[in-house]
Amino acid sequence: MKILVLNAGSSSQKTCLYRIESVLPEHPSVPLWEGRIQLDGDQAEIRAKDSRGATFEDSIKVQQGTSSVAQLLDNLWSQKAQAVAAPSAVDVVAHRIVNGGSEFKDPALITPEVKTAIARMASLAPLHNSVELDGIEFIEKRFGSVPQVAVFDTGFHSSLPEPAYVYPGPYEWLARGIRRYGFHGINHQYCAERAAQLLSGELGSLKIVTCHLGNGCSLAAVHAGQSVDTTMGFTPLEGLMMGTRSGSLDPGILTYLMRQGFTGAQLDELLNRKSGLLAISGISGDMREIVNAMKEGHPRAKLAFEIFVHRLRSCIGAMIATLGGIDALVFTAGIGENSPEVRAEACAKFGFLGVELDSVKNAQPSQDRDISQSDSAVRVFVVRAQEDWAMAKAAWKLLSTKVGG
Ligand code: ADP
Repeated sequence: MKILVLNAGSSSQKTCLYRIESVLPEHPSVPLWEGRIQLDGDQAEIRAKDSRGATFEDSIKVQQGTSSVAQLLDNLWSQKAQAVAAPSAVDVVAHRIVNGGSEFKDPALITPEVKTAIARMASLAPLHNSVELDGIEFIEKRFGSVPQVAVFDTGFHSSLPEPAYVYPGPYEWLARGIRRYGFHGINHQYCAERAAQLLSGELGSLKIVTCHLGNGCSLAAVHAGQSVDTTMGFTPLEGLMMGTRSGSLDPGILTYLMRQGFTGAQLDELLNRKSGLLAISGISGDMREIVNAMKEGHPRAKLAFEIFVHRLRSCIGAMIATLGGIDALVFTAGIGENSPEVRAEACAKFGFLGVELDSVKNAQPSQDRDISQSDSAVRVFVVRAQEDWAMAKAAWKLLSTKVGG
């Protein structure tokens, strides 16, 4: 089965094509090809590579009114890019949908009703759900009746217990859909399952904290394979400090600023794009640049790093408290996979719980590995984020069940 995966962001669109035959492999396969479009004003950079390493790069002018997925796939499937991404028979298309609200727990075959529900949820995730709908509609135009599957980033967190998802504001908020949804669920679930695999066991009764630290950052507390707590909330703005997002703040700051004349749109811009590592360091929202500048003695980069780590530790502690213990701590995504400094600092205060990092293993770059000392009471893993593979698997399973059953 050939599965086209579409993973849309607010300013980028990733796509890849997987082939999964009749048996699901235990480990992620390499996609037949993968591509990405990065939008920057009216310019867009397109990059793609195939499983043999052939690459394709192009810079195009953004056509207003055309969706990013259309610009990416049309370009990749154009004559020029055929070596990288020859159009192939696609059996199913999997879409990452950021917000499935309370309605969607499991991946769903896209029907007109599912599309309407995704559109309804767009008010909760304006930067994402509408781009994702564009992708669904583009595929309908291009491929007609090919099955499409929605995989929800909120789905894994639908197991949160009530005290974890109800906000202690007015009770009517709940009926209006104002509650914790949690995000990055596709990768939190994948990482918890991978950690269990690395522990050579079943998820069983394992207590795992997964730390997804990329441009967006969130944690999940996973007990026996179920998400029981997470740091992102109603929107992906809550919780940890991020590249350009503030994470949690005293809500009183917002009402104070509103009384001073700030509008909702201005606050949205400040909190989503002009806060976090970027705002505190004054140089960048990219952790690599923060660490480099800190090593050169830049005081605000040092402060940004220290706030990031302070909040990360506090939130890891909160996840462990919800779980009532911890068997494994997992680091994933850009920062989680690549920053030994962040991992070392995050673990440093958890020695009292038996978290003992192996500094040599922590410094070595390699994928999906145990970086704790052999006598550490808690295993610490680095797991490569594999959202696209997890989505391909979900679509394969859904279709195989439909065909089989
Ligand atoms: P996204 O959330 O957009 O998928 P990624 O998971 O790719 O993002 O993470 C991007 C972030 O990872 C970058 O902004 C950067 O801060 C961080 N990162 C990547 N490589 C390194 C590295 N070697 N050291 C520290 N941070 C890194």
